[in-house]
Amino acid sequence: MENCLFCKIIRGEIPSTRVYEDDKTYAFRDIAPMAPTHVLVVPKAHIADCSAVTPENSGIVAHIFEVIPGIAKAEGLENGYRVVSNCGPDAGQTVQHLHFHILGGKPLTLEMA
Ligand code: AMP
Ligand code: ZN
Repeated sequence: MENCLFCKIIRGEIPSTRVYEDDKTYAFRDIAPMAPTHVLVVPKAHIADCSAVTPENSGIVAHIFEVIPGIAKAEGLENGYRVVSNCGPDAGQTVQHLHFHILGGKPLTLEMA
């Protein structure tokens, strides 16, 4: 997607702090962290949001959840963490490229997304 912010980050056109990468997935630090650790995990292939997940593309979601424990361990989140995906305006989604927030490093309030 030409003008998608996270596609530009994946292509290296916008700088980011890489945390993890493989052939299907890219993880980087959120520019406005809401917790001591705030990492975004995204599929390299553009998917708009949770509502655009289908039987044809859902394998990437499973893959992302398979790599999240390793990212959390590398970030030292032994005491727990939260995984969040905002979908649509009422959830406050601001970037229309499927992403999973990993939040941790302190006890989290329910307001944190
Ligand atoms: P959401 O509001 O769930 O769509 O999450 C989008 C997230 O992307 C927010 O937490 C932003 O802080 C984060 N974000 C926006 N621009 C950048 C960027 N250039 N690098 C890293 N994170 C970003
Ligand atoms: Zn995209």
